[in-house]
Amino acid sequence: MTARITLADLPIRDDLRGRTPYGAPQIDVPVRLNTNENPYPPSAALAADLAEAVRGAGGTLNRYPDRDATALRAELAAHLRHGLTAERVWAANGSNEVLQQILQAFGGPGRSAMGFEPSYSMHPIITTGAATRWVAGAREDDFGIDPEKAVAAIEEHRPDIVFLTSPNNPTGTALPPEVVRRLVAAAPGMVVVDEAYFEFARAGTPSALELLPGNPRLIVTRTMSKAFAMAGTRLGYLAADPAVIEALLLVRLPYHLSTLTQAAARVALAHRAELLGYVDRLRAERDACVAWLRGRGLAVADSDANFVLFGRFPDRHAVWQGMLDRGVLVREVGPPEWLRVSVGTPEEMAAFRDALSGVLAGPDVTPASLATAGRDQEEETP
Ligand SMILES: *Cc1c(COP(=O)(O)O)cnc(C)c1O
Repeated sequence: MTARITLADLPIRDDLRGRTPYGAPQIDVPVRLNTNENPYPPSAALAADLAEAVRGAGGTLNRYPDRDATALRAELAAHLRHGLTAERVWAANGSNEVLQQILQAFGGPGRSAMGFEPSYSMHPIITTGAATRWVAGAREDDFGIDPEKAVAAIEEHRPDIVFLTSPNNPTGTALPPEVVRRLVAAAPGMVVVDEAYFEFARAGTPSALELLPGNPRLIVTRTMSKAFAMAGTRLGYLAADPAVIEALLLVRLPYHLSTLTQAAARVALAHRAELLGYVDRLRAERDACVAWLRGRGLAVADSDANFVLFGRFPDRHAVWQGMLDRGVLVREVGPPEWLRVSVGTPEEMAAFRDALSGVLAGPDVTPASLATAGRDQEEETP
């Protein structure tokens, strides 16, 4: 028998040694509220249109797809409005691939990217994967970004890429447009506003898309994975100056977006009224969840997304496990004493409330603090 080879035995890049992969648990439990998916599956009519589109595309699969996804990009531009056109929109396999292409084009060895934590764990993972140095900036106790401090941090580190997540994951915090405007003005390089949860923001919250004219170093990313209820399709997109898209063409793999993905995404866009029709329901359920958690005396971050960050638990893992034992999967993410729950259907949220009530009634779990107190600034584990 030969000994099992481990990662440490391989000539892997030094900067990847000792790292852990992204790993939200995929556990088969009745109520899965851990990856911010939309709980409402596509309707039978939508599924039938998808099947029809795949049937149509099936007869062409001996050929490569449209390398530039022209029709899809034109339809995405029309969806985003703001005067956008296909040449200002780009699409890839999830916004994670969009972000990776941005890092490949604008990051790289000797360069750096900065974000304000706690935030989306994939930003540093994609950054280091692209051999780019990660600079961790900080958010305030209310999880907002203080523009003075953020400008100072940007001026100190001069990052090639700045990530702003709005609404932020895992906290749900939306950034005022004035803050985004100031940070775009201060940044020496590219600024990526990750708007994965934009559709869930409270009415009247402006998009960073409004700042695109005159800001060729600004990129706004979106996804079909959350509000669009199409996480399985893997379709993310961005809007930016046409020159930014020219840069991405230099690094994208040829034919990166399969014929089937392009077809599915176009069907989803054609049905967007149905898909986005659940957003209001999810917002109302989110606000009810925030109110219920506060009524229990817990600390809860204001949320403009389809999830809620709540705490604080000295042993959050015990709470997470207690919930799982009751059939409800939430996420251990963010600052050490907090948990995140994705907003589900009314039935799923009732199960969440029952499970949490059960756990909190148990002997060994007490909230650390009933006030929205400060928090540790440790980096989250994915
Ligand atoms: C979920 C999420 C994404 C989406 O990733 P996809 O690759 O499009 O599924 C992007 N950014 C943030 C902040 C997210 O939470």
